[in-house]
Amino acid sequence: MKTEPKPRKKNPIKQVPSNSSTDQDWTVQQSRELYGVSGWAEDYFDIDSNGDLTVTAKTSNGKPSVSMATIIDGLNQRGLKTPVMLRIENLIEDRVLRLNNAFAKAVADANYRGAYRAVFPIKVNQQHHVVDSIMRSGQTFNHGLEAGSKAELLVALASVSSKDSLIVCNGYKDEEFIDLGFTACQLGYQCFFVLETLEELDLIIRRAKHFDVQPLIGARVKLTTKVEGHWAGDSGDRSLFGLTTVELIGVVDRLRDNDMLDCFRLLHFHLGSQLTNIRNVRDGLKEACQYYIGLVQDGVPLEYFDLGGGLAVDYDGTASTEPHSRNYNLQEYAVDIVETVMKSLDAYGIDHPVIVTESGRWTVAPMSVLIFNVLAVSNFEPDDLPEQIPEGLCDPIRSMLETFAIVGTQRLQESYNDALYYRDQLRKLFSAGKVTLRERAFGENLYLKIVKEISQRSADLKRMPSDLAELNESLSDIYYGNFSVFQSLPDAWAIDQVFPVMPLHRLNEEPTRKAIIADLTCDCDGKLDRFVGGDGETQRTLQLHELDSSQPYYVGVFLVGAYQETLGDLHNLFGDNNVASIRITEDGEVEFVEEVSGDTIAQVLSYVEYDPQQMLSRFRAKAEAAVRSQQITVKARQEMVQLFRDSLQGYTYFEE
Ligand SMILES: *Cc1c(COP(=O)(O)O)cnc(C)c1O
Repeated sequence: MKTEPKPRKKNPIKQVPSNSSTDQDWTVQQSRELYGVSGWAEDYFDIDSNGDLTVTAKTSNGKPSVSMATIIDGLNQRGLKTPVMLRIENLIEDRVLRLNNAFAKAVADANYRGAYRAVFPIKVNQQHHVVDSIMRSGQTFNHGLEAGSKAELLVALASVSSKDSLIVCNGYKDEEFIDLGFTACQLGYQCFFVLETLEELDLIIRRAKHFDVQPLIGARVKLTTKVEGHWAGDSGDRSLFGLTTVELIGVVDRLRDNDMLDCFRLLHFHLGSQLTNIRNVRDGLKEACQYYIGLVQDGVPLEYFDLGGGLAVDYDGTASTEPHSRNYNLQEYAVDIVETVMKSLDAYGIDHPVIVTESGRWTVAPMSVLIFNVLAVSNFEPDDLPEQIPEGLCDPIRSMLETFAIVGTQRLQESYNDALYYRDQLRKLFSAGKVTLRERAFGENLYLKIVKEISQRSADLKRMPSDLAELNESLSDIYYGNFSVFQSLPDAWAIDQVFPVMPLHRLNEEPTRKAIIADLTCDCDGKLDRFVGGDGETQRTLQLHELDSSQPYYVGVFLVGAYQETLGDLHNLFGDNNVASIRITEDGEVEFVEEVSGDTIAQVLSYVEYDPQQMLSRFRAKAEAAVRSQQITVKARQEMVQLFRDSLQGYTYFEE
């Protein structure tokens, strides 16, 4: 369906549309189902009897819960305005614990004779506080770090505390990168160079001679197993990374020639992120096991088997092979991996290696929630028709009045076709100068009246014709959120990733509006229009509450701790948002561990090479000239310059 410029009504927050009634009997259980909470929230989020969203932590002393209302109050008291990226430290700790425990259990249950080591891939969330939390909570498990660039290796060198933790260096490495790795070796850390190309090997061999240190070398192989899902680009013959079989043999030969075959200890592969189907994990691993076996048979003293990332997050809560889900849980993942490696290697009598995974997304996704407030709503509510229908209306409008009178007595699709036809006729007459502006406005409103009526009646249809489904979507409200998709949820824009989105309060009231969410950027892509539905189907609209002028309306976007924080950009010069890290204590208090103020406007401007001081002087000169030519008073000049200066120091987002 063509949607011509739609008649729109912008309601400032004060105005509450009147036509929908609030169901007093709405229960929080209905909200749970509507937003699919039990599917994606694991045991971290729930709704309390007041209708507030809660966060639950696990401590040695039980499971204290805190409501988002309490957290938001605390943020406000500290002057941290929305949008805020909220990080919940307890959830990082819980993930690190669960990951290591799941593999420990799988290893023990199978009598696997190797160990498990996790490494966190820094690229998934490089924030200092996050990496530190992972290192702290993973210390007893020797949780390590994976670095894909020099900057990340510097982070790893500064952050890893245990010498039994691994530092895995992936990515293309220049001499400086390699020298940094050698410093780690010299200090006694287990730093692996994973070869992505043969050229790197020559450089490593040369630098090893220079430092007179035996490096730990790994090789990344390119598997041919194809995997499903959004992030599958890393698999198959054409994958960007890794060595072919021919190159792999080249590595063995060259190391042997240099008397360095001893250094070759690790085999690495990475099938892609968000592996939705456990069969892909198993198939890829089986193929990789044959590489492992082949190399060992060739005399390579492998000890570590690094399976890369891919452990998926169930964003839509369907536990399926849909792109935003996965058909397995953590324990199954661990068991399948341990058993597959064991079975494959036992057949050849090969020692069990240390299994390494680089699980990033799974580890950090749940810890972060983006919180924003809604600024305004525009909806497509028609005005009431006047009691006295004006005389002398043009034909298309008269026909529309007839159509309106009989909606419900004929097929809805037919009424819809008619309304659309007459409206187009009306628009043509207007363009030809045969209909006045007021007449057209009357007709457009009438059209909206008819399609609203059709839309409401279509809710009862067993099978919704696709036209009418689109109609419903095009009539949904637009809620304007105080955030930037490009800055805070880049994957929602770039790859249509679905994240759970829901209100953080009023969950004991029925959400009577259907809406999409637009952000502050003036970009037609700056919106959220795919949502997790209760049944797991992706929905094009989200049910939200009518705004109430007496209180702000807060919405949360969940599971955003992986990949979102640094991929963001400065579209429309909206900068980094405020960030708050909290910890829930054993007695259910909220500790504000760290607050990071988002970018000021001056900071954002300097990123694009403006000099805020110079901008201020230039503006001051303009105001001064206006004083001289008596356009404004000296006092007005003072106020203007002050406003300019204050704005430079302000938040880039909407401030109340
Ligand atoms: C991105 C990446 C990871 C992380 O994958 P997740 O699916 O987030 O766990 C791990 N290893 C390598 C080599 C990567 O490129």
